[in-house]
Amino acid sequence: MAEENASLWAPWRMEYIRSLSPDAKDDGCFLCGYWGQPDSDQENRVVWRTSRCMVVLNRFPYTNGHLLVAPAEHVGELAALDDDTLIDMTRATRDAVGLLTDVLHPQGFNVGINLGRCAGAGLPGHVHTHIVPRWSGDTNYMAVIGDTRVVPQSLDDLHTQLTEQAAKSGLRS
Ligand SMILES: [Zn+2]
Repeated sequence: MAEENASLWAPWRMEYIRSLSPDAKDDGCFLCGYWGQPDSDQENRVVWRTSRCMVVLNRFPYTNGHLLVAPAEHVGELAALDDDTLIDMTRATRDAVGLLTDVLHPQGFNVGINLGRCAGAGLPGHVHTHIVPRWSGDTNYMAVIGDTRVVPQSLDDLHTQLTEQAAKSGLRS
């Protein structure tokens, strides 16, 4: 069991996976790119925005519904974020957990921030909170042996479901 959990929560894989992805950006920061392109929220799978942060579906999810909460500012440390931004991110994290609960009915969540490369940050320059929904039995031999996760729903379908529910909940207009 411990091995399964360790394998699921292996965020240092992100950097590797992203580096292999054809849409990985060689330069720049994808979160800054998303923030600067509000007209591409559908394509970038941004679920909603506040004035200070955005909630985005992770392109390389550990489980179905893996969301990221990222501030508008490109900073790598919590100490660089002002109180208003930290409060806003925490509210967005709370609302993201609520949204995922409404749509996917997970049995638990892992919520966390990786600070620094040695802690597994795939994008150490732009701090972001991971929200990973969990179900009992969501780890299996694929994750342990193949380092591959079986995510049962397409990201686009899930993005549509989440944005519709976010609109109903008043998180996005
Ligand atoms: Zn950035």
